[in-house]
Amino acid sequence: MPEIPAEQPYRGQRAALATQHGKARALAPPLLRRLGLIAYPVAVDTDQFGTFTGSISRTATAPQAALAKARAGMAASGLTLGLASEGSFGSHPWLPFGAGGVETLAFVDVQRGLELTVSAVSRRTNFAHHEVADGGDIAPFLARIGFPAHALVVKDPGGTLLATGLQNMDALSALAWPGNRLETDMRAHLNPTRMAAIRALAGRLAARLAAPCPACSSPGWGEVDLARGLPCSSCAQPTQWVVAIIDGCTVCDHRETRPRADAVTAASPASCDWCNP
Ligand SMILES: [Zn+2]
Ligand SMILES: [Zn+2]
Repeated sequence: MPEIPAEQPYRGQRAALATQHGKARALAPPLLRRLGLIAYPVAVDTDQFGTFTGSISRTATAPQAALAKARAGMAASGLTLGLASEGSFGSHPWLPFGAGGVETLAFVDVQRGLELTVSAVSRRTNFAHHEVADGGDIAPFLARIGFPAHALVVKDPGGTLLATGLQNMDALSALAWPGNRLETDMRAHLNPTRMAAIRALAGRLAARLAAPCPACSSPGWGEVDLARGLPCSSCAQPTQWVVAIIDGCTVCDHRETRPRADAVTAASPASCDWCNP
């Protein structure tokens, strides 16, 4: 393990990781490497917050659900730090149009009054379903979704669950009757594509927690909003494009604005409501 700088506030501390789906394997390494923070898995019935197989409907937004899970893990373990992840896929009301999936991570530090969520929209997801046709070949679908490394859920024509977490060809063949529906099992430990996305997001959370607020020194300084209004290069009127990034602290509400990383200072007249209405 590399040396963790002594000023990292979470060095050697444990954070409750509310999980049923083996996400610790993806989440823990980036947090340990960067911060010395130990993700401590706690068994919590996270299905009370909604499941991927649709048996319980979701009521909160993804960040709210992830924060609630983190708090449930803290309550179950008595730890004052909590972590949780939440994923949503396909045509879901939380998702921007056309997105494949969104992963969200939440971090709670009760003593500092810190609550942080980070999210990543991904078009790269294996989320898909397939209705078995009479005499049809399911092999192309299986190849596309990465079976058997990625598991499947099988439902009958009425929508009743016949199997979850299927990764065995013989077991799948026995259920691949015409009319039955095959769906990708989106639980993280059965889905290497999700595990990779969660690992990358945990790296972003670690970087964020390693950055102190310039005003109050709390961990978690970073992007909280975008300022729009990049001026048109022809008429200088504001457009909908991002002009600056707003960094913030979730503990003291200090804000600072910095220019775009790509140093673009003007928008194309094609995106201007005045030049190109
Ligand atoms: Zn213009
Ligand atoms: Zn602050």
